[in-house]
Amino acid sequence: MKTFTTKSGYQIIQLLSGRANVWLVEAGSIRILVDTGITLNRKKLLNKLNPESLRSRDSASLRLNFLLLTHTHFDHCQNAAWLKNRLGCKIIVGESAKEFVRMGYTPIPGGVTRWARFVVRLGRKFRPGFTGYAPFQADMIVKEKFTFALEGVNLEIIPTPGHSSDSISLLVDGEVAIVGDTLYGMVSGKAMPPFADDVPLLKQQWKVLLDTGCQWFLPGHGKPISAALLQKFI
Ligand SMILES: [Zn+2]
Repeated sequence: MKTFTTKSGYQIIQLLSGRANVWLVEAGSIRILVDTGITLNRKKLLNKLNPESLRSRDSASLRLNFLLLTHTHFDHCQNAAWLKNRLGCKIIVGESAKEFVRMGYTPIPGGVTRWARFVVRLGRKFRPGFTGYAPFQADMIVKEKFTFALEGVNLEIIPTPGHSSDSISLLVDGEVAIVGDTLYGMVSGKAMPPFADDVPLLKQQWKVLLDTGCQWFLPGHGKPISAALLQKFI
């Protein structure tokens, strides 16, 4: 499990990997969980989030202020409603997710490769219920670049659509960007996720991300991607 520490001492801690990456960002007094993984990983996530302090909501030791969803595909948000109920954290999503999360379903994008197109066809045919999640209400909707207006906190959120219309990325201290499926870290030498709504738009976001000046990009699946490597993909 990876941990990054930025120049201001912010920590970005990987809580889950495998099916989907889940990150905890501790920036000054703010704690933000980025993505939640699938229902099956709920217990594991709870343990990683420090179960002692979770038991009392008033405990000063646990302040999960926000849950940011890089996008609302089921593998990233199946524990969102549950976490909100349990911890009272505010949920941040991209603009187009507003309606999806009320229904508990976000359309699955088409496949980018032939294999991925086959998987999508199969999934739509046999497991239509598999790709949903418990509905919830979003508390913050990101339409354009958003900066946290808190003294001494350097956190920004930018829309990065392409993989899905609701994709957003969290920029931590101008150094590390958590980007969801806008980048894919599962296959070395490739950054294109197997599924995407709009491939040309997705590729534009790589340039947008590189222009932020961040040095590391943490994808929703697989390994971190350095700025030098991202440059090669553009
Ligand atoms: Zn996705």
